[in-house]
Amino acid sequence: MICEMCGKDVNELVLVEVEGAFLKVCKSCARMGKEMKRPSRAAETHSPASPALRRRSSPPDIFERMTKEVVEDYPQRIRRAREALGLSQEDLARKINEKKSIIAKLESGHIYPPDKLVKKLEKALGIELMEEVPSD
Ligand SMILES: [Zn+2]
Repeated sequence: MICEMCGKDVNELVLVEVEGAFLKVCKSCARMGKEMKRPSRAAETHSPASPALRRRSSPPDIFERMTKEVVEDYPQRIRRAREALGLSQEDLARKINEKKSIIAKLESGHIYPPDKLVKKLEKALGIELMEEVPSD
């Protein structure tokens, strides 16, 4: 049998596709035919990671994730501001329409003031009880 590629007379021929055409070729030519197809097929299936995708998945800037939180030393700030205004705990409680025990607990750090109470205290005492902190 004659190889359609190299013209060599061999015992066995293999049908291979070479650049869209089917040829009956010898074993050594069959290997060449496959070799010829491989580069184009590899180019199709190989897709490198997009740099744009990688950039999108990177963590956002830390300064974009700030949130307002009650300051750690809120008990001292409340007490100092109250005393500076010459108010008793009872006076302050009446001023912001809360129980005296709430003021006592806030100043001893036993309770954490909810947003609504923080706003009332800031207004009544003229102080800042919130600060910008990273949200994480
Ligand atoms: Zn051949």
